[in-house]
Amino acid sequence: MDNAATTPVREEVAEAMRPYFSSRFGNPSSIYRIACESRDVIESSRETVAKAIGADADEIFFTSGGTESDNWALQGVARANAKKGSHIITSAIEHHAILHTARYLEKQGFPVTYLPVDNEGRLDPGAVEDAVTDTTTLISIMTANNEIGTIQQVQKIGSIAHDHGIPFHTDAVQAAGHIPLSVHDDAIDLLSLSAHKFNGPKGMGVLYIRTGTKIDNLLFGGGQEKKRRAGTENLPGIVGLATALDIAVRDQEKESGEIRKLRDRLIAGLLETVPYSRLNGHPTERLPGNVNISFEFVEGESILLLLDQEGICASTGSACSSGSHDPSHVLLAIGLPHALAHGSLRLTLGHGNTEKDVDTVLEAVPGIVEKLRDISPLYPGKEK
Ligand SMILES: *Cc1c(COP(=O)(O)O)cnc(C)c1O
Repeated sequence: MDNAATTPVREEVAEAMRPYFSSRFGNPSSIYRIACESRDVIESSRETVAKAIGADADEIFFTSGGTESDNWALQGVARANAKKGSHIITSAIEHHAILHTARYLEKQGFPVTYLPVDNEGRLDPGAVEDAVTDTTTLISIMTANNEIGTIQQVQKIGSIAHDHGIPFHTDAVQAAGHIPLSVHDDAIDLLSLSAHKFNGPKGMGVLYIRTGTKIDNLLFGGGQEKKRRAGTENLPGIVGLATALDIAVRDQEKESGEIRKLRDRLIAGLLETVPYSRLNGHPTERLPGNVNISFEFVEGESILLLLDQEGICASTGSACSSGSHDPSHVLLAIGLPHALAHGSLRLTLGHGNTEKDVDTVLEAVPGIVEKLRDISPLYPGKEK
């Protein structure tokens, strides 16, 4: 129930990767035969990824994951355009891979606008237009949020960016393989994705860069990836990412339909059986697998510990043990008071989850919340 954090590698994907650890291990930069084979499989993987997002193969760059892709997009575009201007527009609910990079760039003299979102986590595309200045050189808005699952109006934002001639980046790490994506239809110039969020291997990602987009390198060294991303290619990782994305896109419609049904039963069941609960995020424009609910008068982290005892893995927007007592920036940005942000539970469904899993959660959560409320001095009444 924590597929937004990571997913297991599918058996077919692990199988496809296996030869590239041992017998087919050639360094693609070498000139003998097994090296040529490595080059070939990288190029066919690139084509597979390109097809999945409506891009050309030479616009696909392999990276070490979503974090590197986000860093590259922001730092690379900011630096390449520094002479033209320095202003960056993003949102208040981005992943830390974007937000912490933006904060770093601010210290380097690049002003950043963090646009607010509404109570359901949606950004008004009109606000993007209003924030544009003569010096804006990048707009970066995530396709779908990792905590509350809200999906943004990427197409509208992309066309606003294009009307102003500003490159548009989207962190599509939670979206890729789970909802349809097209860099062409959505006027996207740069797009980040990460294999371990769609049943591929960890430590493997892609940055799509539209032909003609000005961007500096992030990593320097050898001439790999057309001299734009140095470092010996992660051959098994590349094969794993492409295989996993191919399967996810092939099965996307069917699988997301099934997962959406599980999600909706889980949401309805929890809201019905647990008093003082509310759904966070958008009711319909949300990722197929995302459930995020706040329970008043309880700590999310306490729920997690008790769920873990029942063998259920979940997540929360408040993690005191991680050293941060502040609730999630996303939950605060949608206007949740601290008390509700602290009592949030995120359950994210994915490939392999079943009706029975939903039953197990629906059986466990109401009792756990009741037990915690019974010992909470703030809870107004047990009779409720
Ligand atoms: C997981 C995630 C990332 C980071 O990706 P990694 O491959 O784990 O580095 C970035 N953005 C979003 C929205 C994510 O969910």
